[in-house]
Amino acid sequence: MNMEERSMGDIEGKSSAELKNLDILKLDRRTFMKTVGALGASAFMGTYAADIAKAIAETDRNIVWLQGAECTGCSVSLLNAEYPDVLQAVTDLKVAIQYHETLMPQQGLFVDGVPVEDAALNANYALEHFLDSGKPFVLVVEGAIPLGPDGTGNYCKIGDESFLHITQKAAEKALITVAAGTCAAYGGIPATPPNPTDAVGLQFLKTTKGGALGAGYVSQAGLPVINIPGCPSHPDWVLLTLTAALLDLIPTDFLDEFQRPKMFFNPDYTIHENCPRRGFYDMGKLDTEYAGGKCLWKLGCRAMLSHADCPTRLWNSGTSMCTQVGGPCIGCVEPTFPEGSLAVEVEGIPALVGVDINTAALTATGAAAVGVGAHALRRIVPSKED
Ligand code: SF4
Ligand code: SF4
Repeated sequence: MNMEERSMGDIEGKSSAELKNLDILKLDRRTFMKTVGALGASAFMGTYAADIAKAIAETDRNIVWLQGAECTGCSVSLLNAEYPDVLQAVTDLKVAIQYHETLMPQQGLFVDGVPVEDAALNANYALEHFLDSGKPFVLVVEGAIPLGPDGTGNYCKIGDESFLHITQKAAEKALITVAAGTCAAYGGIPATPPNPTDAVGLQFLKTTKGGALGAGYVSQAGLPVINIPGCPSHPDWVLLTLTAALLDLIPTDFLDEFQRPKMFFNPDYTIHENCPRRGFYDMGKLDTEYAGGKCLWKLGCRAMLSHADCPTRLWNSGTSMCTQVGGPCIGCVEPTFPEGSLAVEVEGIPALVGVDINTAALTATGAAAVGVGAHALRRIVPSKED
């Protein structure tokens, strides 16, 4: 057994009390992420805040946060984080946010039509100034990157420079590059057809690799873009990934095929599996109108196609999640989001059940149910209450 296998085994056998007594700074990368998963992000941050703060203080790492074609929802989501909140993350963890257009005081100041060339006053110069400093930093991008018109990127400009150019320039120097939210990861809403600005994500356009930085892009740490999708992204997903990045604790194999951290977006797990309404689905009790309290499949729920830990992590400081409060999962973490009409039943049963819904209906009519998931059959034979 090599050291890595031994560490992983150790974690799996430990109680949560034992997990809280580990020296996390001596853990290898995979064990670090495994420990975060075993304890839960919030408990992990709370337990190890002092150690993390000390480690980050010694690393002299910084964050540059750029915002392109977006609604600022992912920043707002992060600002709503409570355990820890952003203030704690910035002060206790000593994270230096060097540039964030919504949070910093600098603006694009002009005098007589000429930008004020002072990093203390003007946002563009603040960024230039920091990028020229040579200090190591983690780049976070929020929002899609318009390439139009004609590849110039001029549909989205900050000051007199295209967001495309600013992003490429920063990504070239970044130790690690993170896409916060589905727009930055895959293009999201701005890149949805007809996509008038020719918007893309950092390293993807929907499911196709490429994007603003190109398929071959790797950061200074040798990593591709780390995608933290979501509309918005969950603050735990962002804070934990940034913590791991700042501590240089990101293992090379922790991303799925769409470059999402598997610890939050497990490819073997869909939201449907832990949905609080799952019992209704299994009984074939399906709402056809909102506010009914049963399974939301017929109202367009896409949780069977969506990989994220929303039902176990919950949102709004552990309060609730979409299906719990009566909203179908719209699959906001998937590269194809938003596709089609979100309030319409998804055609075809996903691979989890393994058969198309129309096939299932025919099979049920013919009473040849062999191989068809029992709950799939019950879904198409509504109960009397339905
Ligand atoms: S509401 Fe959605 S996630 Fe929940 S059981 Fe129904 S289909 Fe599955
Ligand atoms: S439940 Fe679905 S729509 Fe809601 S946040 Fe999670 S992935 Fe997004």
